[in-house]
Amino acid sequence: MTTEDSPGTDVTGTDVTDADFRRAAHATADLVSDYLADLPGRPVWQPMDETARRALLDAPLPAEGRPLDELIGAIGRDVLPYPMGNGNPRFFGWVNSAPAPAGVLATLAASAMNPSSAGGDHADVHLERAVVRWIAELVGFPHPAGGGLLTSGTSMATIVCLAAARDRAARRAGRDVREEGLAGLPPLVGYVTGETHSCVRKAAELLGLGSRQLRTVATGPDGRLDTADLRAAVERDRAAGLLPFLVVASAGTVGAGAVDGFGPIADLCEEQGLWMHVDGAYGAFGRLDPAIAHRYAGLERADSLALDPHKWLGVPVDCGCALVRDTEELRGTFSLVPSYLRDESASALGWFSEYGTEQTRPFRALKVWATIAHKGRAGLARDIARCTALARRLGELVEADEELEMLAEVQTSIVAFRHRAPGRDGAARDALNRDLPAAVQRRGRVFVTGARLGGAELLRACLLNAATTEADLHLLLAEVKAAARDLLG
Ligand SMILES: *Cc1c(COP(=O)(O)O)cnc(C)c1O
Repeated sequence: MTTEDSPGTDVTGTDVTDADFRRAAHATADLVSDYLADLPGRPVWQPMDETARRALLDAPLPAEGRPLDELIGAIGRDVLPYPMGNGNPRFFGWVNSAPAPAGVLATLAASAMNPSSAGGDHADVHLERAVVRWIAELVGFPHPAGGGLLTSGTSMATIVCLAAARDRAARRAGRDVREEGLAGLPPLVGYVTGETHSCVRKAAELLGLGSRQLRTVATGPDGRLDTADLRAAVERDRAAGLLPFLVVASAGTVGAGAVDGFGPIADLCEEQGLWMHVDGAYGAFGRLDPAIAHRYAGLERADSLALDPHKWLGVPVDCGCALVRDTEELRGTFSLVPSYLRDESASALGWFSEYGTEQTRPFRALKVWATIAHKGRAGLARDIARCTALARRLGELVEADEELEMLAEVQTSIVAFRHRAPGRDGAARDALNRDLPAAVQRRGRVFVTGARLGGAELLRACLLNAATTEADLHLLLAEVKAAARDLLG
């Protein structure tokens, strides 16, 4: 590589001058801007061709370094042309959003600072305190000073929250689970529904609770937790000498976007001394939309809430958040600072590493700050309201189409529907709907994924992108029907 400082010499790798960096940074900015500008006009997703795939899989360990410019060129050639598809307004798959432009830019700045946001007196740490408070304010959750932290995602936030729940339950039973473990305690029992995300089971397994001690409570036809069934299950387990301690409610299930009735669940949890945890990974921010805000009444009574700014807010991955009602509960679960070394002044919240599992922690707060600051509360609410309105519109279009049918009410911004497969039996209809998502994806014009709900195979379209248009909704259904004709034909 030639640089201004050392014309003609081959400076490989480490000797990056300011001029080298600036040139490559500008090239990166152009590359990323082109990528984002071109996204809507490209196929949503395409399978990678074998050569391109192999080039990545079999990439040899570089013996010598290469100049920055070359790396940027390689990213543009070998990586950016093969995206997952989220980012395109015709991507309706899973729960993966387009990146907020402000968050993309902030990611570069955050990595230039590269702090460990474990604790201390630097900007990233203070900014994380602020954005966690902002997140709590956005979803209407109480925020005692220090009552939460950013995590890699909701899977990790769930582990953090459930660990605090386990600690409290053990303590009430006269045990210090951190020192003594679970041995000797009656089994701790938690309550979920058939719609609860798998990350809750993973957390229960990791925390030594055992997935068998997670009871699956019935749901109503609306996909919401049946409180009468919950009460009966808790009473049965108590009578059997077990220790009910946890209820997991959903602020938007991943299958159909159902929001549990939090008020009655909170009543029961208070009465029975159970920890109420809410999985708001996908749906908690739906509370910003006045049209559906009523569904979330009582969310603020939970003991903990896990949610994902990297979903509906569009903060670039990764960014989850754990919020807790009782800050000391969380600190008591994770802090390894001996109490005699703590600063006990009122403002001393300690380090984030006392509230979760990570020691060295990334500077996630800047991309959250940028994303929220760019749109403001009003802009976020507008975008979210647009998504729920689009979802309801899509529901109407499905209902008006005789080849298709809805399988659940649209409560948030997920539309669960299927192809009727007229003239076929139930098994053939399930087979068709199971095969449909991949067939639609291969066509490249829209991207939708599937799920099983109440025993039926279905398609689920998740609306997270405010740039999606009504024409895109028509295209989605046209593509589903065209793919079905191919599969049935
Ligand atoms: C995405 C999701 C999770 C898991 O969160 P991650 O950020 O992927 O770890 C949990 N619950 C629901 C409802 C989700 O949509």
